[in-house]
Amino acid sequence: MVMGKAAVFVEPYHFEMTELPPAPVGPGGIRVKVTSGGICGSDLHFWRGEIEPILTGKQGPVILGHEMAGVVDTLGPDVSTDSMGRPLKEGDRVVFTYFFPCRRCYNCLRGELNHCPVRFRFRASIEEFPYCNGGFADYYYLFPGHFVFKVPEELPDSAAAAVNCAASQVVYGLQIAGVRMGDSVVIQGAGGLGINAAAAAKEMGAGRVIAIDGVSSRLELARQCGADETIDIREYETPESRVERVKALTEGRGADVVMEVVGYPQVLPEGIEMTRRGGAYVEIGNIWPDSNVTLDVSKVLWGQVRIIPATHYDPYILPVTLDFLARTKDKYPLTKVMSHSFPLERIGEAFEQAEWAGKGDEASITRAFVTP
Ligand SMILES: [Zn+2]
Ligand SMILES: [Zn+2]
Repeated sequence: MVMGKAAVFVEPYHFEMTELPPAPVGPGGIRVKVTSGGICGSDLHFWRGEIEPILTGKQGPVILGHEMAGVVDTLGPDVSTDSMGRPLKEGDRVVFTYFFPCRRCYNCLRGELNHCPVRFRFRASIEEFPYCNGGFADYYYLFPGHFVFKVPEELPDSAAAAVNCAASQVVYGLQIAGVRMGDSVVIQGAGGLGINAAAAAKEMGAGRVIAIDGVSSRLELARQCGADETIDIREYETPESRVERVKALTEGRGADVVMEVVGYPQVLPEGIEMTRRGGAYVEIGNIWPDSNVTLDVSKVLWGQVRIIPATHYDPYILPVTLDFLARTKDKYPLTKVMSHSFPLERIGEAFEQAEWAGKGDEASITRAFVTP
């Protein structure tokens, strides 16, 4: 059997390269050859040891990486189309949900596929099926009933790479927040998610998009990708000054929609104060346990701020996002978000470079990715 390469996460700050068997492809399944694996903010949380990967089966070394794209390596005997009914063959470029709703639980029954409690079953111990499996490995196995979509021809690989996490996550968040034509939208954090969010909000009809960050290159990219205004936290050093700036840019009201994609809970109180009365606050970044913060709930109540959590997305968002990226590929340089590429063997270096916390302007990377 031809083995697949995998970078196994052994402990914080430590990967080991190994070879594992690729998953055998059963009826309904698809094995994907991974072509790019993005280092998402959540991967950095695992790497720093701030959060333990959710595993099915027994604990042990695990393969991380969920933001990925690839090509069809092997189709199950009865699979001939993608989830839109388009013909699918080996070698086709595909993106897919990296999580797998079971469709046999209370949440799935209600159509809440992104709330399915067992949607993480892809992340098993490396000794168990599907073995060589993850964004930081040669292969990824799509279980029967997977959601998979062919990548439009005009979209380059670098644009497809961030579709199934960063881009789709924020498109979904903006959709459920109900962004409407003319809305003002604040994005807290201009990393991989934030820059995609700026462009997506603009395309959804937002009147004014305001991005907040503390790294010059990210703020510059945010401006190129749809942000009308940026707030540099080195210039506006206090939460009060940032709230005041957002109010000044929104005729004193605050924004219709504020989205948190920083990944640290300290930004919530100011974000809620930046939201207009009756506006929506979309929470995406604080995925790790003990993301504690003190909130003045009276401000939420009297401001009637709708706090909207968004984890994962409805699978229909994937083709919507692919179409958005294909339509706007010459308008926004979103491919620049995937700023640095490393071969899989140099994954440790890729993580060190991707680490932005505490680096200030030296954190020039918006998104690093590995190429198995
Ligand atoms: Zn992610
Ligand atoms: Zn389910």
